[in-house]
Amino acid sequence: MPELPEVETVRRGLEPALQGARILNVELRRPDLRFPLPEDFAERLTGRTIISLGRRAKYLLADLDDGMTVIMHLGMSGSFRVEREGEIASVPGDFHHERAKTAAHDHVVLHLSNGFRVTYNDPRRFGFMDLTARAELGEHASFKGLGIEPLGNELDAQSLAALFKGRQAPLKAALLDQRLIAGLGNIYVCEALNMAGLSPKRKAGTIARKDGSPTVSAVRLAEDIRTVLQQAIQAGGSSLRDHKLTDGSLGYFQHHFRVYDREGETCPTSGCGGMVRRIVQSGRSTFYCPRCQK
Ligand SMILES: [Zn+2]
Repeated sequence: MPELPEVETVRRGLEPALQGARILNVELRRPDLRFPLPEDFAERLTGRTIISLGRRAKYLLADLDDGMTVIMHLGMSGSFRVEREGEIASVPGDFHHERAKTAAHDHVVLHLSNGFRVTYNDPRRFGFMDLTARAELGEHASFKGLGIEPLGNELDAQSLAALFKGRQAPLKAALLDQRLIAGLGNIYVCEALNMAGLSPKRKAGTIARKDGSPTVSAVRLAEDIRTVLQQAIQAGGSSLRDHKLTDGSLGYFQHHFRVYDREGETCPTSGCGGMVRRIVQSGRSTFYCPRCQK
């Protein structure tokens, strides 16, 4: 499952091809992905201009010039391929899985006025596309009740403290709760907690004071969540540039993980010297350093 930095990397990779382009023609090679494609999807997109390509949590949002928005989710194995004059220009975000080589999995193809062709490929078809009025996006099933955006301005020490105040759940579980913060996944929660020196097991409410104001821990955590996400996006960006020199999966994160999937290795926190441990919380692996994460 791509995490938020990967989706943001895909967005940045697609933006030059999609933004400002008019959709000349849409090929739908099948009627459904994870869900049926919207009724008359191709007809409704044809002739429209894409004003901007945004992102909310792990959803890509293409705003059209008629007030509609195309919602796109990559699922487990979805990827986009950008081609121009028959040449592959880029495969943004392809680093997280084997390059989908077979054209049998090319499900949606957009032919654009700028000469680009953007193809959505998805071998397992857990991804989906939908069309909704921009003004009603907040009411869409995928966005209703979704928490704050971790890379947006909403996430800071104050908002974290307000969201977590009084919560008895472990800090890690609260950070993964999509109703509180949207799009933060297991990997980056582990990374941010290590960087902030906070135990994944402590109660979420402990980063807020009784009056709901943030503790020093909340200040650190808010800052480190943004830092680990930004660093991953930077790394994704560089792998994107290198992509043509490699064959498929770069696994770009592995080299940058602090604790994730590093059980038994030395904690990266300077002066700590502890060892990374793996525990299971709510059925998912948590990697952390018991020595410096309190
Ligand atoms: Zn440590």
